[in-house]
Amino acid sequence: MEKNSCIFCRIIQGQLSSNIVWQDDSAIAIRDLNPQAPSHILVIPREHMSDITECKDSQILGSLFHKTSIVAAQEGLNKGFRIVVNTGSDGGQTVAHLHIHVLGGRAMSWPPG
Ligand code: AMP
Ligand code: ZN
Repeated sequence: MEKNSCIFCRIIQGQLSSNIVWQDDSAIAIRDLNPQAPSHILVIPREHMSDITECKDSQILGSLFHKTSIVAAQEGLNKGFRIVVNTGSDGGQTVAHLHIHVLGGRAMSWPPG
């Protein structure tokens, strides 16, 4: 996908406003525009990858996972939280730029819909 037409690339490039809660040189974390829990944050690699299947670099994936845990701690989610990586159409992915949802601030149910 063209970087210009990807919402998250536009946010990362500063062309679209967002509520950034954490960032480093390779990822940012923003509040979801349409939160599904009291805390709903998206952890997004700066590099465009459409989904997890496109990333063959285990170091990038591992580090993204670790950053997600840092963001959850910063958010004070000490009672727990859920992380979600929607992938493809059956996975319910709506933005084709890899991201990890962090949901917390309420008890989650299972199974997901
Ligand atoms: P997914 O459906 O897993 O691809 O997740 C995409 C998420 O991005 C959804 O939860 C949307 O609410 C969220 N979203 C879409 N546009 C924006 C935006 N401009 N700023 C913040 N979150 C967004
Ligand atoms: Zn992108």
